[in-house]
Amino acid sequence: MSASDTAAVQRHLERLAAQGIDVVRVTYPDLIGTERARDVLLDHLPAAAGHGLAFCRAVYHTSPRGDVVPVTGGLDAGLPDIRVRPDLDTLTPLPWEPGVAACLGEVTDPVTGQPAPESPRDLLRTVVDRCRAHGLHPVVGPELEYFLCDPDPDTPGGWRRYSEATGAVYTAGLRADPGNHLLRTLRLLRDLGIGASGGNHEFDGSQFEINLTHGDALAAADRAFRFKSAVKELARKEGRLATFMAKPFNEAGGSGFHLHLSATDDTGTNTFADPSAPYGLSATARHAVAGVLAHAPALAALANPTVNSYKRFGPDTLAPWLIDWGLDNRSAMVRIPPERASGARLELRLGDASANPYLLIAGTIAAALLGILAGEEPPTPLEGYGYDTARSALLPATLPAALDALEEDTELTGVLGKDFTASYLTYKRDEVARFRRHVTDWEFTEYAYHL
Ligand code: GLU
Ligand code: MG
Repeated sequence: MSASDTAAVQRHLERLAAQGIDVVRVTYPDLIGTERARDVLLDHLPAAAGHGLAFCRAVYHTSPRGDVVPVTGGLDAGLPDIRVRPDLDTLTPLPWEPGVAACLGEVTDPVTGQPAPESPRDLLRTVVDRCRAHGLHPVVGPELEYFLCDPDPDTPGGWRRYSEATGAVYTAGLRADPGNHLLRTLRLLRDLGIGASGGNHEFDGSQFEINLTHGDALAAADRAFRFKSAVKELARKEGRLATFMAKPFNEAGGSGFHLHLSATDDTGTNTFADPSAPYGLSATARHAVAGVLAHAPALAALANPTVNSYKRFGPDTLAPWLIDWGLDNRSAMVRIPPERASGARLELRLGDASANPYLLIAGTIAAALLGILAGEEPPTPLEGYGYDTARSALLPATLPAALDALEEDTELTGVLGKDFTASYLTYKRDEVARFRRHVTDWEFTEYAYHL
């Protein structure tokens, strides 16, 4: 570390100590966007900032159940290290954990000194830089839904929905939220400083939506990542489970991760607006829509990353089913919200809540950029409430189909990079293989008695 870096760390240390902080939690996203972290005692912060914290690179390749998937650079390489240095500019006290401040970590491969190949944050940086080289600065607004659950040993999964309220979409207050979960969560999120703007109860009982303000793509991904971790942590503190799984319950709809996207030019003007152009959308915006439609099957592999994700899709779900777009039309995969001028943007409704924010945003921006560079027009937009398979193609129906589409989409993987794509496909195909071998409750219920 240079002398000025050492002085800066010292200033942070003194400021934190004055605030009563004695632990710094250094966090970063793994391949599926869940939080990996280490709690560092304040006195050891200078060492962490200098040398970096060592983690095993296979943390990126570890399944939710804890198995290390044989991704190149992990098991085969003898489980080497990655180094994680706290980014002290992102320090923020955790409002629910007195004495603890959290910050994001910058991940490098100590052998190359470069970012780790599987680091989703660095992948997003690369894609944003690509846009910047074309004079475009992506602006992203994340919208996430989740279900809240209470423990229940009598249910197969051990959790039941927190409330069975029906008809409570777009409500706030005790009507569908008897424990005031939303109010408490919103206030803590405000104090965390991640740009939460508001929230409401969603369509199904126990389902909530909280919106984050729009902004620079990497910062928006960081905020969405911190948001998901915070909501899960806050629920755990109350003995509850907040799940961003795509479709946790048979008798309820899924949870979306809708993404609002536009791009400013070097002067900060929204390049998606043009009042004199078709639909009030600039050529850049229309080409971006065409790109997202063209690459949708591959994008699904990132936006809908689990076996469960594909159970959220379908007609009459408010989740998409077909690869289409429409003007202020919630049955379309890409909705153009009614605002124009500085508010002109697209809303991609494809992603589900389980998506890694960095990968969803990187993939969407990459698809939009490819469309802008190709200069193609999208088909005429969907009109009315439509799920007409004669008019638009279907999204992939399963995770393996989406992974195949990703592998075949060499234009998109060209932007995402060969190493990242290979790691991601290996990791996700392992998940598919494990699921294929697993006998589900449905199979037993359907067959055991009658056959
Ligand atoms: N829950 C729906 C989804 O899975 C979205 C509902 C809404 O329009 O907000 O995408
Ligand atoms: Mg919603």
